Formats: sequence, C-alpha cells, structure tokens
Amino acid sequence: MTDMRARPRVVIAGGGTAGWVTAAALSSQLKGLLDITLVESDQIGTVGVGEATIPTHRSFHVLIGANEVDFMRATRATFKLGIQFENWGAQGDSYIHSFGQIGKSPWMADFHHLWMQAKADGFGGDLGDYCLELRAAEAGKFALSDKLNLNYAYHLDASLYAAFLRAHSEARGVTRVEGKFVDVRQDGECGFIKSIVMENGDEVEGDFFIDCTGFRAALIEKVLGVGYDDWSHWLPMNRAVAVQTQSAGDILPYTRSIAHEAGWQWRIPLQHRVGNGHVYCSDYISDDEARATLERNLDGEMLFEPRVIKFLTGRRKKLWEKNCVALGLSSGFLEPLESTSIHLFQIAATRLIQYFPFNGCNPALADHFNRLASEEFESIRDFIIAHYHVTQRDDTAFWRDRQAMDIPDTLKQRLALYRDNGLVYKGEEDLFRIDSWIQVLLGQRFETSAYHPAGRLMTTDKLRSSLANYADGVRRTVAQMPSHADFIARYCAMAGE
Ligand code: FAD
Repeated sequence: MTDMRARPRVVIAGGGTAGWVTAAALSSQLKGLLDITLVESDQIGTVGVGEATIPTHRSFHVLIGANEVDFMRATRATFKLGIQFENWGAQGDSYIHSFGQIGKSPWMADFHHLWMQAKADGFGGDLGDYCLELRAAEAGKFALSDKLNLNYAYHLDASLYAAFLRAHSEARGVTRVEGKFVDVRQDGECGFIKSIVMENGDEVEGDFFIDCTGFRAALIEKVLGVGYDDWSHWLPMNRAVAVQTQSAGDILPYTRSIAHEAGWQWRIPLQHRVGNGHVYCSDYISDDEARATLERNLDGEMLFEPRVIKFLTGRRKKLWEKNCVALGLSSGFLEPLESTSIHLFQIAATRLIQYFPFNGCNPALADHFNRLASEEFESIRDFIIAHYHVTQRDDTAFWRDRQAMDIPDTLKQRLALYRDNGLVYKGEEDLFRIDSWIQVLLGQRFETSAYHPAGRLMTTDKLRSSLANYADGVRRTVAQMPSHADFIARYCAMAGE
C-alpha cells in the first residue's frame, strides 16, 4: 500500500480508443480531484479498427456528457440495431442477433416459452415477429422517439472517435503529451511505477498509471509481467485482414457477420465508407487466402491496401497490478464477433471512477477490481464460443474442429440447461441478456423441444390472439418508420451531405 497525494497524478499511456475513453471518463467525473496526463505516439499510431459497438455505449456517453448528434456528426456514425449472422448455423442461413426485447414475458417464464408452446400448437410464426429492433433492422429502418424506445448502438469511425474524445477530454483539463516513451522507472522497493521516460529524455511522473498501449502492453506486461491466460484453444482466430471501402448501396442499420471457410467477415457501414475485415485462424488458411476471400466479398472500391493484424485471444491474468491498471487491448482481447472490446474498457473506466485508489493502491481494491473484470471477460468469452461450437457446419476442417472442441464448463452447463429445459439465464456479471442467448442459439440451429408450459395457462385462442396482436403492433410500427438513411440525413449527417 502506498499513499496518494491530495490530487493524484494519473498518467494514461496510450491514445487509442481505450486511452481517450479513459481520459474522457475520468476527466468528466473526477475533474478537480485528479491531474490527468495522456501520452501517445503518432509514430506508433493506433490499431485503427474497432468500429461497431453495443448499446452500453449510449450509457457511457451519458456518463461523460457527450451529445449524440455532435458525436454522430464527428465520427460519421450510423445506428446499429444488431448483427446479422450469415452462413453460421449452416451455409445459406441468416439470422439477426438484435438488441431488442422479444415479446412480453409473464413473470414465471421468458417469452420464448410461450412462443415454443405456440409453435407446438401450429402457429406463432418466427420469433423475430415479436422484436421491433429485429424487424426494423431487416427493413433498413430507424427512428428515435420516447414512444419507440429502441435499443441501439453505433457504428463509428475509430480514428475520428479518438479525436472526438480527445477534444472532450482536453476541454476538461487533460494534458496531452505527444511522443514515444522508451523507459519506465519503478520504486526500488515496492516496484510501483514512478515515471515513464520519453525518447527526448523528459520524464512523465505519476501516482497511478493506466496502460492503454494496445497489444504492446508496455506497462502491465513488459514492466509488471502479470502474465496472460491464452484462450486460443477455444477461440483460435489469431488474425484479421482489414480494409475500408467506398459506400455502395444502402446504409444498413446493422453489422454483417458473414462466416467463411475458416473464419468470418465483418461489414460495418458508416456514413462515408464501409469498414471490412476477415477474421481467421492461420492454422487453416494463409494470409493470402484470407485476403483473397475478403476481396471477393467486398461491395465498394477499396480505399487502401488491406493490412493484416495479428492477435492472441485471451486475458491478462490481472488488469490491476501495483499502481497500474490495463484497459483496452493491453488487458486482453476477445475477437470482435459481438463488438464487445470497447464496452469492456468503457465499463472498466467507469468502475475506475468508483474505485479510484484515493486511499492508496492496496490488494483488496485491486483484487476486487480484477475479479469483476475476470467475470466479465469470461461470460463474453462463452457467448462468443457458442457461435462457433453450436453449428451444423461441417464443410471444412475448421468448422468440424469447432463442433468437436471441448468448451468451458460454464458454457457446457448453459447449453445443457437450454437443451433439457429450454431455460436461459443472465448472471450478475453477464453482459448478454436472455434475448441475446435465445436469438443466437436458435439462429445457430441449437435444437430443443423443452419449454415451460406457461402458455397452457391460457386457452390456445387467447395465446394465438395475444401473439398475433403483438406481432401486428411490431409490423405496423416498422411500416411507419423512415429508412435508416433518411433518418441519418435529417438527424446527424455533416452539413452539405
Ligand atoms: P491502440 O489503438 O493500439 O492504441 C495504443 C496507443 O498506445 C496508441 O496511441 C499508441 O501510440 C500508444 N503507444 C503504445 N506504445 C507507446 C509508447 N511506447 N509510447 C507512446 N505511446 C505508445 N472493438 C469493438 O468494440 N468493436 C469492434 O468492432 C472491434 N473490432 C476489432 C477488430 C479487430 C481486427 C481488432 C484487432 C480489434 C477490434 N476491436 C473492436 C477492438 C478495438 O479495436 C480496441 O479495443 C480499441 O481500438 C482500443 O484499442 P487500444 O486503445 O487499446 O489500442
């Protein structure tokens, strides 16, 4: 345990999305209590991807006081109602994992149990008939109103987002230092970090350090050596080839995730371009093959040469060690299938506001922070593994191996609970809701005939009419909504576009 001064000096090492998200969070909420310096190097640059988010992004913007229209204009953002998974359960399949609520649940059983009763009785249609966000996404529509209350997230331009947050943070007193740091000084006795040493010899001293140096993990690993839990036996994807293209066609209000022979491809539509990438496992295909697959599946003209990014799926053994916390890619990486990385450091930065070590860095605080972060990582990991493991695809060695692989006990237990009882749950630290699990398990063709008989507590006619009314309400609402492109043009397009 070390003492903190009255106004602790916080040094954020790194100015990618993680660094600036952290700066924005701390400076918005703890202004006056902290001295915050952010160090970033133009020479090193940022990872340059990471453009799809989940609905918690909106809560983060409320926390930092960012205006939605300003943010969307500045980052050329579009709305995201979910992710369309193509060729995942089987080739030719397509389903949307939307952010919406599905139907209306009685207290004793979630809505899908009623729907499964209806299906057994020969009616009920698709589960998607009961989800406004899902049907709006399919129709390419979007609107904002208190009455609609859509659950949505954004697609954004990563480099413009860092610039947006930088302006926000500097206006709230954050000092930016440009340059590369080349050395780190530690206390000889306790090993706490005292300063980082810049290439020009300047020293940036601090009481608390936040490692946002990306995959380099320059403080948490290179200096403090906390170690890494490698999860590549469950999630073997280790590369992505990424490229931006010109917009072609409609601006969709959802991300596309298209499964290929040994991985999958993202398409993220922004106002001014589309972000594309092919995530793959190099044990099954070469970089050249991965790039060729990507190029065969692009709509618009490429804006630059595709580039390969390497990664290792897993998590740092500790996010908080001594007087340092790792946020962003330095803390670990779960592939972007469900767009969860930005969320993970937004939630960790938010927690840091609550748990900032004003009383000194001590093991109890760090252990608690680390435990919560571990649970979050693990629950997202299981959700992502389910997409690969629960599939009927067996057309390539990659997919056969995913079906055959061992999975974490926590996921085994979940899948058994669903298979044998139709039950899905959301634990305390789980990010994904019951509706998310149901959409993905059904979409991936995970079969169960088990369900709670809550639907039999009403007559078949009553169940039929209440489902029909709900689905009709969804249909009518979607019909009245403007197209996503028209809504963006009115709401947040840059002047003159
Ligand atoms: P970086 O962007 O790498 O930034 C590191 C910073 O540290 C830079 O500013 C660099 O200059 C600085 N730095 C490093 N070393 C030094 C030094 N010695 N001196 C000074 N400065 C230094 N997330 C999502 O939420 N949604 C997605 O759709 C998504 N897609 C992704 C796709 C891929 C292929 C990958 C790899 C990631 C994706 N992510 C996604 C994750 C997302 O990109 C990152 O979580 C996010 O960009 C944060 O990165 P970062 O700030 O941690 O690291």
